[in-house]
Amino acid sequence: MRDKTNWEENTLINNIDILCLEKALKIYVNSDIVIMTHPSKWKEIQEYLVEVHKIDKIKIINLELFDKFISCSKLRYDLRIQDDSLSFCCAESLLQGKLPKVSLDLEDPEKCINSLLNFRDSLISKIKLNIEEEYCIGCPSLIEDYWIRPANSSRRLDCSMTAPCQYNCCYCSMHKQLSGFKNIRKFSFSQFEPLLETLRQRKIINKNTKIVWVAGELSILQQNKIISFFELEKLDYIASNAYIYSAEISEVLKNNHGVLSVSLDAGTPQTYRKVKGVDYWEQVIMSLKNYKSDSIRISLKYILLEDLNDTYEDISRFIYLAKSLEVEKVVLTRDVTKEIKLTPERMQLIELFKELSIKLGISYVIYAHLNNSIESQNII
Ligand code: SF4
Ligand code: SF4
Repeated sequence: MRDKTNWEENTLINNIDILCLEKALKIYVNSDIVIMTHPSKWKEIQEYLVEVHKIDKIKIINLELFDKFISCSKLRYDLRIQDDSLSFCCAESLLQGKLPKVSLDLEDPEKCINSLLNFRDSLISKIKLNIEEEYCIGCPSLIEDYWIRPANSSRRLDCSMTAPCQYNCCYCSMHKQLSGFKNIRKFSFSQFEPLLETLRQRKIINKNTKIVWVAGELSILQQNKIISFFELEKLDYIASNAYIYSAEISEVLKNNHGVLSVSLDAGTPQTYRKVKGVDYWEQVIMSLKNYKSDSIRISLKYILLEDLNDTYEDISRFIYLAKSLEVEKVVLTRDVTKEIKLTPERMQLIELFKELSIKLGISYVIYAHLNNSIESQNII
């Protein structure tokens, strides 16, 4: 039986009839009842069954799907593909320990996936039991919470392979290898297809998996091929420099209710040129307007960079621009490959980012590694 509010009666889930509670209690008068829910709700449901439906407490079973212990949602539910590895996250710069990953072997995807899953399960157990190991140490994502048993399907798959881009952002590792249109042919999505297909066959990725595309610039790659490959999943987050407005990207994001993430990192064309290495400000603003007129959800990012864009003028213009573009949210973060000195002046800029967002009614996120606490506010 299921909660009537979420599931329609007379529907079949995995060939099982969905019944509302009242009907099920009438049909299965002498059955035991198993409650599968978050522990914080269990007692409330038990009391409801006893008091309202007069069910004997002894017949109510708590199936412990959840346990409280230290773990990390990325380790449990995410996957990340890079050129040479399979991992779960990109938290390397935040760690005192090692990033959990296995070598990527595109010739033998089965073996590679098995070793990743075995590694993950053993690491989750060790962290849970507080057994000393060398991975994930110091990561702020490790928290004590209620965790469901690990499932083998992934909620999110990050495609972070090195792929070409026409930009030259000062903080990007990709552009040093593959910048410029001339390198577009160097990227072959096909070589990753057997791996992705194996993940699909093993149901590690499925129709509920959110695909995050942060590999180079999708609008200049084998765009249609990549988009159509992920038709069975949800291509739901695409990082783009937005130099090119792409109707295909717009359509896929719209269908999946996905997000276009654009790292603008500036409030003026001059700063944009210094940070991004190109002079495409006007073009990008035009593309963002086009995406907006397609009703695409846009997340506008600001990577705070020492002595480049850490000025009052840039940050305030950025927030006002975000307001005029009606973006869904603004994000402040830092270049994760470098330390940033959080001087009182820079802390004031972080405050400015927050206060101006609030004043103009824009949802914002300030990432944990910038000022030691994740701050966000959704404005509805
Ligand atoms: S604990 Fe940190 S390093 Fe480990 S998987 Fe999670 S996010 Fe990555
Ligand atoms: S736009 Fe993105 S992929 Fe391109 S150079 Fe900048 S950070 Fe790198």
